[in-house]
Amino acid sequence: MSHKYAGGCDHVHTHSDKEPIDNHTCHCSVCKSVTGQATTHVVFFNHGDLKVDKIDGLNRQPFNANNPNGPLELCTCKTCGTPIMLDDKEHRIRVIVPNLMGYDAKNLDATYHAFFDASTGVPKPNDGRPVYDSLRPDFVWPASA
Ligand SMILES: [Zn+2]
Ligand SMILES: [Zn+2]
Repeated sequence: MSHKYAGGCDHVHTHSDKEPIDNHTCHCSVCKSVTGQATTHVVFFNHGDLKVDKIDGLNRQPFNANNPNGPLELCTCKTCGTPIMLDDKEHRIRVIVPNLMGYDAKNLDATYHAFFDASTGVPKPNDGRPVYDSLRPDFVWPASA
């Protein structure tokens, strides 16, 4: 059984046969503190498009430790601790960080830079992709489900 996009760990598997709805390089401080990476490649799928084979195999913790009631939860494998996805309490999106969550980033190129903040002193990216201080202005959140 092969899927368009697939990842996870040895215990919990995720996949999507649909295209992501957003795909960006994130410069935000929450991603930085969670991933330890200067920037984080973040892929949004419609909540219903990203399937999980063993949802009970996941531990959940607030994605943003400073906003524990926020909608996004970091889901990690109960067995090995691998980050599996970010889940949305409002069931709008599920989020994959390809290089940490078992995905092949090759066919998942980010289309822009999000949450770039010049005040951090980081040079503005000049790889030709658009740079925004938020998500791209035309991004529309799917409805809650
Ligand atoms: Zn971020
Ligand atoms: Zn695992």
